Amino acid sequence: MNTFESKLGEVDPQIVEIASKDLTRQQDSLMLIPSENYASRAVMEAQSSILANKYAEGYPGERYYNGCKFMDDVESLAIERAKALFGVEHVNVQPHAGSQANMAAYHALLEPGDTILAMSLSHGGHLTHGDSVNFSGRYYNVAAYGVDAETERIDMQEIARLATEYHPKLIVVGATAYPRHFDFAAWRQVADSVGAYLLTDIAHIAGLIAGGVHPDPVPYSDVITTTTHKTLRGPRGAMIMCRSEYAEKIDRAVFPGLQGGPFLHTIAARAVAFKEASQPAFKTYQAQIVKNAKALAARLIENGFRLVSGGTDNHLMLIDLTSKYEKLSGRQAADHLEDAGIIVNKNTIPFDKRKPRTTSGLRIGTPMITTRGMKEDEMVQVADFIAETLENRQKASIKRRIRKKVTELCARFPIYEYLK
Ligand SMILES: *Cc1c(COP(=O)(O)O)cnc(C)c1O
Repeated sequence: MNTFESKLGEVDPQIVEIASKDLTRQQDSLMLIPSENYASRAVMEAQSSILANKYAEGYPGERYYNGCKFMDDVESLAIERAKALFGVEHVNVQPHAGSQANMAAYHALLEPGDTILAMSLSHGGHLTHGDSVNFSGRYYNVAAYGVDAETERIDMQEIARLATEYHPKLIVVGATAYPRHFDFAAWRQVADSVGAYLLTDIAHIAGLIAGGVHPDPVPYSDVITTTTHKTLRGPRGAMIMCRSEYAEKIDRAVFPGLQGGPFLHTIAARAVAFKEASQPAFKTYQAQIVKNAKALAARLIENGFRLVSGGTDNHLMLIDLTSKYEKLSGRQAADHLEDAGIIVNKNTIPFDKRKPRTTSGLRIGTPMITTRGMKEDEMVQVADFIAETLENRQKASIKRRIRKKVTELCARFPIYEYLK
């Protein structure tokens, strides 16, 4: 596929220079953003292939363009691999991103004005789960749920109560900042009790599910949406999985409902990622993500930080900064950590008193540092770097010293070593 010699350096050295600088940044920083990952070189090669040149509106065997034989082969392979990986009846691999996948699922199952019950952004839900600035909040009537004030976990009795009160046509389970497992069987019961569809959004945890370290939503969900670039470690993109009875609706919602031509190069890259995810090494990787998250959480707690809900079951955790530094916002903390080469994102914590642009929390995840091979011992160091940086946030010389130690730690774990 990539039989071409690299031409980019000759044609556009400026782009090569920018990308090289970011390669250095990705190598020398502790990347702790839980929604990101290092896709493999094989995935990236497929993404930059000649498959990008073809229009193939439609689906395998029924395209609106001629010359699609090999596009059919690529897309069918991606679909078959995804079906086998997750054990689902139907898959649509065309959504360009997670937001488009959710939009398509709503478009397939709802009419504008219908009611959805979904997690509010401020408690860990995604923008597409009905936030007022998003299409989902504009086109649908949204009943929002959050976590319990005491436990900071989802309380299924409260969800059942909200479902009875609002009678949603669709219930969304899934989040972008929730550190605990979802009890999908309980969600199914609530959905059935009010005759609602159950949409499960596994954008963050798809890799954990494929790796067998998170409860499986497949037996309980009508439709499942996911990105392919987070814990699943594929290319940027998404897919929708569903029971056969919704297959036609879902496919028609994606095309011609919302999108034109599929991106066959990234669908090829998704196929590569699904193949990688079916290997035993992927299970080991996912298990290590969770072990690392638990080790990191434990050490952060030893350093005096309070974590939302007290810890983590998955790949991420939320630090409540107010527990240690009343005046330090998530935004400031994330900037101080970047000075030390530690990349995290600010995030609201449940019942946050600050706004989403400032926040009182940090969201931290282990997928990327686990991809590069770090284990529990390194997690202790990472937690200590975070604590030391925030404690000495006004002292540039100390932050520089930590920056150096971060670079040294990173040097022991080259980002693309694991792919050789
Ligand atoms: C990341 C995410 C999405 C959206 O993905 P994009 O590819 O950024 O559009 C949707 N739902 C959840 C829960 C997410 O975490």
